[in-house]
Amino acid sequence: MNLFCSTTVSPHVVGSVSVCLVQSAVTLRRSTPLAWVVSVMALPRILAASTLRCYTIRQSHKLLALSTCRQFLSTSNHEPEYDIVIVGGGIVGMATARELALKHPHLKLSVVEKEDKLAFHQSGHNSGVIHAGIYYKPGSLKARLCVEGLQLAYEYLDKEGIPYKKCGKLIVAVNDKEVGRLLDLYDRAIHNGVPDVELIEGNEIKKYEPYCQGVKAIWSPHTGIVDWGLVTEHYGKNFRDCGGSIYLDFKVTDFQLTEDSKTGTTAAEYPVKVISNGRAVRCKYVLTCGGLQSDKLAKLSGCSEDPRIVPFRGEYLLLKKDKAHMVRGNIYPVATLRKYIPDISASDISRGPAGVRAQAMNVDGSLEDDFVFHRESGSALGSRILHCRNAPSPGATSSLSIAKMIADKCRTEFSL
Ligand SMILES: Cc1cc2nc3c(=O)[nH]c(=O)nc-3n(C[C@H](O)[C@H](O)[C@H](O)COP(=O)(O)OP(=O)(O)OC[C@H]3O[C@@H](n4cnc5c(N)ncnc54)[C@H](O)[C@@H]3O)c2cc1C
Repeated sequence: MNLFCSTTVSPHVVGSVSVCLVQSAVTLRRSTPLAWVVSVMALPRILAASTLRCYTIRQSHKLLALSTCRQFLSTSNHEPEYDIVIVGGGIVGMATARELALKHPHLKLSVVEKEDKLAFHQSGHNSGVIHAGIYYKPGSLKARLCVEGLQLAYEYLDKEGIPYKKCGKLIVAVNDKEVGRLLDLYDRAIHNGVPDVELIEGNEIKKYEPYCQGVKAIWSPHTGIVDWGLVTEHYGKNFRDCGGSIYLDFKVTDFQLTEDSKTGTTAAEYPVKVISNGRAVRCKYVLTCGGLQSDKLAKLSGCSEDPRIVPFRGEYLLLKKDKAHMVRGNIYPVATLRKYIPDISASDISRGPAGVRAQAMNVDGSLEDDFVFHRESGSALGSRILHCRNAPSPGATSSLSIAKMIADKCRTEFSL
């Protein structure tokens, strides 16, 4: 049995419920021949249609298992020195580290990550979808970065030989009431420049998904699936190939500014100390990409804790192998799975793995939908630290375009 389903619950927000049926991208790196995922997520205010998606990738590729670089820092006086230290070895931190290394080869860069491997949190525990950018508000950064990110992602996956499947996605309306919302979504997709998206009639649905039923649907041919954890590891390899260092098991517990006015001393040149338990690295500047911990990291450096991070837990259900043939790609329903595929019953699914989404919440309780950067220019320490406080979903799909944006931001904020 290998399919999965999720429910996401926040103590603060109750949203609409989405259901997705997906093959687990996580299994792309394991040896199981076929795996399927159903996900039920309570998403705040976003989805007009919910999600039923599914894919069939056979595990025929020999996947690259990258060994993570582990460097042990001595507790002696010598602390390694870098131009920029990036905190957080998730997909956003690693994509940005890679981009900075490619754009500024003269800079000495390192990444510090508290876990013993990269992509341990959101980046390795997500739905594995390469989103096309249909849902996001036209004109928003999210919409632009997703559409750009999709194209960059496919180019990157091809270049690196990372396995993926461009299985497409159907968003299905099952009655006339849902057709209105479907048409709104279609307008959004067109405004956002989602490539090759089509509106199809009910009788055409079976051409894409033989077991699915509905009265109208949106067909997005470029939606795909990939193991984003594996992609993060590739970013890490590219970064190390450019001379970057990655410190694992390095939980940042403090940032300090060394006061030393004597020019030419290490303290003057690399004044920021990034401290873990009994270890430290020195640098000129810091970028934090801490996902669920980004508010805590901001507080450590003297910045405001707001916007705070609200965790949304997503649990997945696994669909039995013998039902896997019933879904070919990604199907996004409005209500329940059975409405779209009547032949799937409760006995066909079981509880699977879970993931926790980092959602930033403003002081007034509203949810932050776009990116939030923060630098406390009023303090000597704070002015050297840029916090990426919110990298909302689809952060994995958009990771290469987000990285370009953050690298530009670092260039201007740190006068690189
Ligand atoms: C359930 C779920 C499903 C999703 N599905 C999709 C999808 O299908 N497609 C898509 O494009 N996006 C999806 N997303 C969104 C995507 O996964 C995230 O936007 C992306 O992974 C965020 O990456 P990140 O690097 O910001 O965060 P993370 O991956 O959480 O990385 C942050 C890192 O910072 C480290 N860190 C934190 N504090 C410290 C510290 N003090 N010292 C050192 N290191 C520290 C953490 O250990 C962690 O490794 C999904 C997210 C979730 C949760």
